[in-house]
Amino acid sequence: MANTQGKIITCKAAVAWGPKEPLVIQDICVDPPQKMEVRVKILYSSICHTDLGAWNGVNEAERAFPRILGHEAVGMVESVGEGVKDVKEGDYVIPIFNGECCECRVCKKEESNLCERYHVDPMKRVMVSDGGTRFSTTTTKEGGLSKSQPIYHFLNTSTFTEYTVLDSACVVKIDPNAPLKHMSLLSCGVSTGVGAVWNIAKVKEGTTTAVFGLGSVGLAVAEGARARGASRIIGVDANPSKFETGKLMGVTDFINPKDLTKSTHKIIQDITRGGVDYSFECTGNVDVLREAFLSTHTGWGSTVLVGIYPTPRTLPLHPMEFFDGRTITGSVFGGFKPKSQLPNFVQQCMKGVVKLEPFITNELPFEKINDAFQLLRDGKSLRCLLQISKFLKK
Ligand code: NAD
Ligand code: ZN
Repeated sequence: MANTQGKIITCKAAVAWGPKEPLVIQDICVDPPQKMEVRVKILYSSICHTDLGAWNGVNEAERAFPRILGHEAVGMVESVGEGVKDVKEGDYVIPIFNGECCECRVCKKEESNLCERYHVDPMKRVMVSDGGTRFSTTTTKEGGLSKSQPIYHFLNTSTFTEYTVLDSACVVKIDPNAPLKHMSLLSCGVSTGVGAVWNIAKVKEGTTTAVFGLGSVGLAVAEGARARGASRIIGVDANPSKFETGKLMGVTDFINPKDLTKSTHKIIQDITRGGVDYSFECTGNVDVLREAFLSTHTGWGSTVLVGIYPTPRTLPLHPMEFFDGRTITGSVFGGFKPKSQLPNFVQQCMKGVVKLEPFITNELPFEKINDAFQLLRDGKSLRCLLQISKFLKK
């Protein structure tokens, strides 16, 4: 049994103190897990564009500081709170921003992965059970450390810290033989992209696909479509350097909208005899969403929206455009029900159905987290993996 069980742990975390302010690596206090909660030692965390969005703080309503960001990671259970049965100390786990309680009306239905209690909520900043935080700043007093200011949680997870506390619904146990560094990718980006193809669009062999935005999420869409036998995968990105990696994930054609004299959807319609079967929007830009929608074929074209849109602007589509028979749908975490379906996805990745190596383009120590943010902002990384804690594999 961990000798930290039931005790407050003091550890390092990267704390966001305000929008666009460099994260501060500092000591924090992490409370023990309460009923149906799990305390996890984070081993590796990668950075997703959604972390960047929260750090930028464009959507004022979602701002909450001080806060520990991060939602894509892999770790090991340090201790569990009362009532937790499916994980125990020492298990390898991945935190999930869109949880599954396995008991509510939605969890019992096949159609949705938006659990009534633990679905993703960008406004949420405290734990469900008591409305409190499990993180706080430390202050040195005579006789030792004592708690002071609360630090907010983020996306049910908060992984830029050596220890975090999660609702057990947001923790998925993984095969201990799985390659740990790669498992961080399944915590968000790769599952989101591959799942959008497999679970939402249900892409069929021999079909055509266009992917808008070739970051990790968009390239995971491409990799998912490649694995399903799509015959043509058109990648669209304003950063031409993304095409080289894209080829590894099955991208067959590349379009840079900056090079065009007519709209992207017109080009796609021209080269595919009327449009692709499926398109995926992975930039988080509403104008790009319109292009993605119109780049599909009339009659059966299907668009899946994956990007996150911090702007208050609404969809730039006229209702009559839906009479052309195209459809559009959104997806969270690629439609995966994390506890029920992710362990099987882990096995498929271990068999090589989906390649994970090319997604990790950089690795840095935890202290360099601000450099890792900069790499993503500059479009120079897909996923930068941070080693959060030192550990020994069993
Ligand atoms: P990223 O920053 O790595 O990639 C975004 C890509 O889009 C970049 O390559 C960039 O060059 C390109 N791009 C941006 N604007 C463009 C434009 N106007 N035209 C063409 N290309 C453009 O981001 P990521 O981590 O891959 O995440 C992608 C999106 O998915 C983000 O909006 C993120 O918040 C969202 N996301 C959604 C979910 C979900 O469950 N729905 C989960 C994870 C991430
Ligand atoms: Zn993410």
